[in-house]
Amino acid sequence: MWMRSSPPFSTPVTRHRSRLAALLDRDGTIIVDRDYTNNPDDVRLLPGAAAAIRRLASAGYPAIVITNQSGIARGKVSLEQYRLVRQRLDELLRAEGAELLDTFTCPHHPEITGPCACRKPDVALYERAASTHELDLARCFFAGDKARDITPGLSFGADTVLVQSSNTKPVDLECAEGSGVAIVASLTEAVERFLGGAP
Ligand SMILES: [Mg+2]
Ligand SMILES: [Zn+2]
Repeated sequence: MWMRSSPPFSTPVTRHRSRLAALLDRDGTIIVDRDYTNNPDDVRLLPGAAAAIRRLASAGYPAIVITNQSGIARGKVSLEQYRLVRQRLDELLRAEGAELLDTFTCPHHPEITGPCACRKPDVALYERAASTHELDLARCFFAGDKARDITPGLSFGADTVLVQSSNTKPVDLECAEGSGVAIVASLTEAVERFLGGAP
């Protein structure tokens, strides 16, 4: 007789996803974008970023960073340097009473490491965050300084804001304008717009 090798009652693949979070880009949104930050001493919080993350958390939206780090594929940032930069960001946030719930990183670049599903605007990192933290992505908040940060939010039908940085290109602004996404000057403003009222 043929026997099943796996138990007849397997655990459901998808658990109920009802939690909320703010899915934030890192460079140009939370910290100054320096093009491949590989020295923890170079990490600078953008003005108001820690307070904005604190405010999101107290409104029920803990912050999760979703970040493309092609500097790793390019050999400009080692994994150890990346870890130290992350640690420094955590320290700077903690000093202002803020914290990140988690971070999801794409270390690839298509021209160097080949195509991957995790580099934004692809959504694999968001899906991974959703499965790890049981997020209802449609009810989460999305913010970043590039088109590739806002198209994922739009694809989930979520509240999405473009935070303009020194690295935001005309094509990013056009993407936001063309899709009715608000363009603001800081994460503070993005959070005000999302949560409403005074900071
Ligand atoms: Mg960015
Ligand atoms: Zn990737």
